[in-house]
Amino acid sequence: MKLIDTIKYRLTVDVAGRAFLRYERFLNARRLKNARFKSENLAPPLRISAWTKELISLHYFRGRYVEGHQPVAYVTSGGPVEILKALGYYVIYPENHAALAGARHAQMELIQSAEEFGFSQDICSYVRTDLGTALTGKTPVGKLPKPDLLLACTNICQTVLHWYRVLQKIFNVPLVVIDTPFVYTEAPPHAVEYVKKQLENELIPVAERVAGRTLKEKKFKEVVKYSKDATELWLEILNMGRHIPTPISIFDQFIHMAPIVEMRGDKVTVDFYYAMLKEVKERVKKGIGSVKNEKKRVLWDNLPVWYKLSRLAAELADRGVSMPISTYTYAWGELAPLIDIERGMESMARVYLYPILNRGTGHKLEVMRQMVKDFKLDGVILHSDRSCKPYSIGQVPQRNKLMEEFGIPALLLEADHNDERAFSEEQVASRIASFLEMMEVA
Ligand code: SF4
Repeated sequence: MKLIDTIKYRLTVDVAGRAFLRYERFLNARRLKNARFKSENLAPPLRISAWTKELISLHYFRGRYVEGHQPVAYVTSGGPVEILKALGYYVIYPENHAALAGARHAQMELIQSAEEFGFSQDICSYVRTDLGTALTGKTPVGKLPKPDLLLACTNICQTVLHWYRVLQKIFNVPLVVIDTPFVYTEAPPHAVEYVKKQLENELIPVAERVAGRTLKEKKFKEVVKYSKDATELWLEILNMGRHIPTPISIFDQFIHMAPIVEMRGDKVTVDFYYAMLKEVKERVKKGIGSVKNEKKRVLWDNLPVWYKLSRLAAELADRGVSMPISTYTYAWGELAPLIDIERGMESMARVYLYPILNRGTGHKLEVMRQMVKDFKLDGVILHSDRSCKPYSIGQVPQRNKLMEEFGIPALLLEADHNDERAFSEEQVASRIASFLEMMEVA
């Protein structure tokens, strides 16, 4: 790493950037006092939103100046990031960046650029959004740093393998692939050992060589502890949704989940979720619901439709429908009990084997069944996501089972998490209308 780049980074990011963003957070916090969402029936935004914005802005601002100061890694969302964090890497999650582009309606230009380069419309829209950025340099956050290392873990899908191979060609840097065997019921010891060996014999040596540092046990434990603490807090926040009325909705969760994905292993993430939990508890105490006059409570399955978040939230709130929980946001909390600080590497291997997408469809059905009971839900919306086959597979039998067992309506909503061309306004409106009719809130 170069001294001149470090001096530039310290002055621009640590001195000027942090001060500016802290001041902006102060202004945003003042504005939030009178802020309202699109619908009068939605509770005002959480006060923590000003901090969320600061964290995300600082993260991407750091990215503009980090090259030469810190090694940079691009990582899939289910990647064992704790090892890289302990080695001092600055980490970019292309999926998170793509989601941010979707929420800001900046993704279609990127998607179209990737398609012009020859990438098919049938490829996941996160991949197309990211490749649009990688190939053109365009991004809604100003600039993304170039990676020094790529890390893909197959625990979410096999698409990441092909995606990261393309990134490797574009950036000409080392790619490490962690292969995770599918878990049907329990991960057998040989599967845990297989993943652990890949972490120890493949990821660590390459990551150390690229970073020019050696992994220190003490630092690794500290990062794993922050990761565990933040994941536990996130899970506790989500479980607050069991209260009636629910103090937070999935729309709040989608907005505030960036740190648990992107900043796992940082102390600030623990502080942030601690403060968020405190605010959510305050809401419970005061009886504030995410939706005013909550009449019905609905589960969301699959990724969000990032470019329609506020519209869907408002449309449902206006009919007194709240959405306390989703399988997607829960996936970032449910593995907290598996993180064992004392058995760092083995526990990392186990944790990264167990994400919801690396398990059978029966497991997802069981998670949804439990949610219907624990969160006292009256209906289910299953987003059939054109882009994400592993998440959408098995949704028809899952829907039928839930309807049969609980006697509640369940809707299959066809869309795409980032490609707006797969979202039909009329079709979604009419499907939601009949779903609400079935729940007797139309
Ligand atoms: S296909 Fe699904 S799991 Fe794979 S990268 Fe796309 S959204 Fe993520």
